Amino acid sequence: MVPSKDQHILIVGAGVFGLSTALHLVQGGYTNITILDREAVPSSHSAGNDLNKIVRAEYEDPFYTELALNAIQEWQTPFWSDFYRPTGYLLATSINAPQKARETIKKSFASIKDHPRFPAGSFSPVDSLNDIKKYIPELQGKMEGWSGYLNRYAGYARAAKALEYTAKICLGLGVKFITGEDGYATEILFGSEYKGKQVCVGVKTASGLVHTASRTILCLGAHVGTLLPNVTQQVTAKSWAVAHIQLSPEEVAMMEGCPVVNCRDLGFFFEPDEDTGLIKLSANGAGYTNITSNAGTQASVPTSSNEGIPKEDEELIRRLIQEAMPQFSRRELVNKFICWCGDTSDSDYIIDYVPRTIGLLVVAGDSGHAFKMLPVAGKWVQRVLEDGEQSIGRWRWKYGKEKSDDISWRVGQVKDIKDVEFSSPRSRM
Ligand SMILES: Cc1cc2nc3c(=O)[nH]c(=O)nc-3n(C[C@H](O)[C@H](O)[C@H](O)COP(=O)(O)OP(=O)(O)OC[C@H]3O[C@@H](n4cnc5c(N)ncnc54)[C@H](O)[C@@H]3O)c2cc1C
Repeated sequence: MVPSKDQHILIVGAGVFGLSTALHLVQGGYTNITILDREAVPSSHSAGNDLNKIVRAEYEDPFYTELALNAIQEWQTPFWSDFYRPTGYLLATSINAPQKARETIKKSFASIKDHPRFPAGSFSPVDSLNDIKKYIPELQGKMEGWSGYLNRYAGYARAAKALEYTAKICLGLGVKFITGEDGYATEILFGSEYKGKQVCVGVKTASGLVHTASRTILCLGAHVGTLLPNVTQQVTAKSWAVAHIQLSPEEVAMMEGCPVVNCRDLGFFFEPDEDTGLIKLSANGAGYTNITSNAGTQASVPTSSNEGIPKEDEELIRRLIQEAMPQFSRRELVNKFICWCGDTSDSDYIIDYVPRTIGLLVVAGDSGHAFKMLPVAGKWVQRVLEDGEQSIGRWRWKYGKEKSDDISWRVGQVKDIKDVEFSSPRSRM
């Protein structure tokens, strides 16, 4: 049944999907929306709470290319453009890249190179150091054997700032925010059964408060399994390393305008942040789980502390700096942390009503590629909310699907975070 516009809608989690959902619902005329989060926006537990995130439309899968192109269109509108930087995007492999990484680049390029929605002249193949230096003079390294392409119809979002802005707009339009202990959901509440299904009536929070609603939408990112344990049959919490280097104002001026550089077998980085002069870098890899006993089963859940990064990732980041920006190779890595997202085997999102329940939706399985969708994702959730079911097969809750850690576009092997050495002391769990 389509919810009436004044029914209470409870969104749990004010990260990328939660805020986008609140925005689309409130803009769609819903007047009674509450959004809960364990922390104020941007929460330190949101994968989107970061200086920047890549916005690009190349995918192995053309389905997401279309969605990302819709998102890029939105990022360029006056509503979002303060938070979008169209620097372009270099996607490459280095000399020792595994075949899988090279194949991913070929598939990504195939998805966009003749696409009619890209402006003419968007792409340039990059097969030599000369090519890189011609298009990206900011890079001073040797980048031996790097090959790939430059996509000019791409860039990045100023991530944490875009989340803050979305929250501010939602607040201004009447969405109610509850954060801290009162917003930290610890239990989904069910009332009576109806036709063999459990009726969701809301959630309980760490402070003991009960929030009731006619529809409850879980947007908990990597944390979704802590509240909805059976989703971990499809969603695995995994983490990746993030670090920064500090540039002087003169160095910022030299690196300004540099496209996002993503070397598939090493990692990626952005132009310096305009407020802080920090360059953000992240290591590429298959990700780290944290397998623990969760509601009687073994599942991966985010660690309680995200401080510090694995030593092997610090080495990857250092190699990336050495190859592309050797002038900064002795620079200290600062603000090192791991960032969690929820991976599915096929990198498809799950946006659906939870089976055998009434009034409970889940938006999960972001698979590390949802930030760019901030301007558009909420309308996908609104459609499911109103249709009463998910009509897009790939976004449905999947029963008994075989889980695999061999994600087609990720490089390397998944490891458990407890089995790797950290580059600096950190608390775990
Ligand atoms: C290292 C890294 C790099 C990435 N780079 C990119 C990129 O370049 N481009 C891109 O498009 N995407 C990128 N992503 C992915 C992107 O950040 C995620 O897909 C996106 O943030 C997922 O949104 P979400 O709403 O599902 O979860 P999140 O944004 O993580 O939000 C979840 C929210 O739930 C809250 N929460 C958790 N538990 C509770 C609870 N019990 N009660 C109340 N609130 C709770 C958290 O505080 C948080 O605010 C990257 C991810 C990682 C890890």
